[in-house]
Amino acid sequence: MADILLSEEERLLRNSVREFAERELVPRAGELDAHPQFPWENMRALAGLGLTGLTIDPKYGGSGGTTKALVVAIEEIARACAATSVTYIAHLSLAMQTLHRFATEEQKARLLPSMVRVERVGAFCLTEPGGGSDAASLQTTATWRDGGYVLNGTKTFITNATVADVLVVFATHDRTKRAKGISCFLVERGARGLITTPLHGKMGMRASDTGTVHFEEVWVPEGNRLGPEGQGFKEAMLILDASRIAIAAQCVGIAQSAFEVALSYVQQRQAFGQRLADFQHTQFTLAEMATRLEASRLLTWQAAMLYDAGQPFIKEASMAKWMASETAVWCADRAVQFHGGYGYFSPAAAERLYRDARVLTIYEGTSEIQRLIIARHLLGR
Ligand SMILES: Cc1cc2nc3c(=O)[nH]c(=O)nc-3n(C[C@H](O)[C@H](O)[C@H](O)COP(=O)(O)OP(=O)(O)OC[C@H]3O[C@@H](n4cnc5c(N)ncnc54)[C@H](O)[C@@H]3O)c2cc1C
Repeated sequence: MADILLSEEERLLRNSVREFAERELVPRAGELDAHPQFPWENMRALAGLGLTGLTIDPKYGGSGGTTKALVVAIEEIARACAATSVTYIAHLSLAMQTLHRFATEEQKARLLPSMVRVERVGAFCLTEPGGGSDAASLQTTATWRDGGYVLNGTKTFITNATVADVLVVFATHDRTKRAKGISCFLVERGARGLITTPLHGKMGMRASDTGTVHFEEVWVPEGNRLGPEGQGFKEAMLILDASRIAIAAQCVGIAQSAFEVALSYVQQRQAFGQRLADFQHTQFTLAEMATRLEASRLLTWQAAMLYDAGQPFIKEASMAKWMASETAVWCADRAVQFHGGYGYFSPAAAERLYRDARVLTIYEGTSEIQRLIIARHLLGR
């Protein structure tokens, strides 16, 4: 691992999160997958360490810190428990960061400290049943009425949906305007007409909560619009561009875990009178896993460092997310292959990692969308 690129502070953070994750998260990961339930214990433990306040201003109870520090922490969380890492990223990098950047002082002071302590959970509601990649075509409406807005519509695949107290919601004033007609709203649990339902049958990340959010004549005051009217799409893209770096770190953590599981197994399992590790094919595969993994980590750190330096980072964030997600899926697949039949059954860690990894090339922009973003930057569009 390219430790030379970490500051002393980042190394200490990495070591302490790793120690915590191995002690607290790893032992619960299999059970959370077999009997899925929201990982409250893990999330509260992350809060106890100040990790749910990373990148959040200490004025609002946060721990501050850089995006580089955040990705270092996320890699370790994801390496230990993928489901906890997606819960954490949706809460912090999506919902809390939207408030941090676009909410009023009053809203930030009222909501962020309790979110840092995980007394309130956040969700980011953009995707709709009609499509996620083409987010500008969203159908949920926001209609001006009685000094506020009435929201009507449905969001789907929303992480933390059924446990969230604070929902960041994107809705349109005028569908014909596409991106320019969209605004962002803050909706709190208890709002009349807000209905959340869990989605069952998820392939992996099973302890994470994924659900549908329905808005039936949900009225929100004008003050709950986050940012100017018509700027919501731009805000969503700003948040997603940055959050993609967090997801890339999650992918690196899952790929690292798959690599370690594979490395360990091939040194024990025998075939044809020798260890799997003694076959040249195994060695070449291990070398490829390690190299793809390291390249993904370096791309992720580069994107985080560009972001922290206030430099253009969007192309690099997409490169990191694309490369790291494909690497995680591939490494998990190779880990299963090395395990032979055992890799197809639980409780083999490879089996869980394979299911957990599969979503990584889909959410927060599919691999096809990442390549579109990269190409647009290359062509100057
Ligand atoms: C477990 C999970 C958690 C999620 N959490 C959240 C969340 O918290 N908040 C949220 O808002 N959303 C969330 N999502 C939704 C996720 O972001 C979307 O699923 C994703 O953006 C893809 O949208 P879609 O499923 O509608 O697929 P579609 O957009 O219908 O895409 C289907 C296929 O078509 C391809 N495609 C689409 N457009 C193009 C194009 N222009 N060129 C080439 N190929 C294209 C896609 O790459 C994909 O392969 C989550 C999804 C999952 C599975």
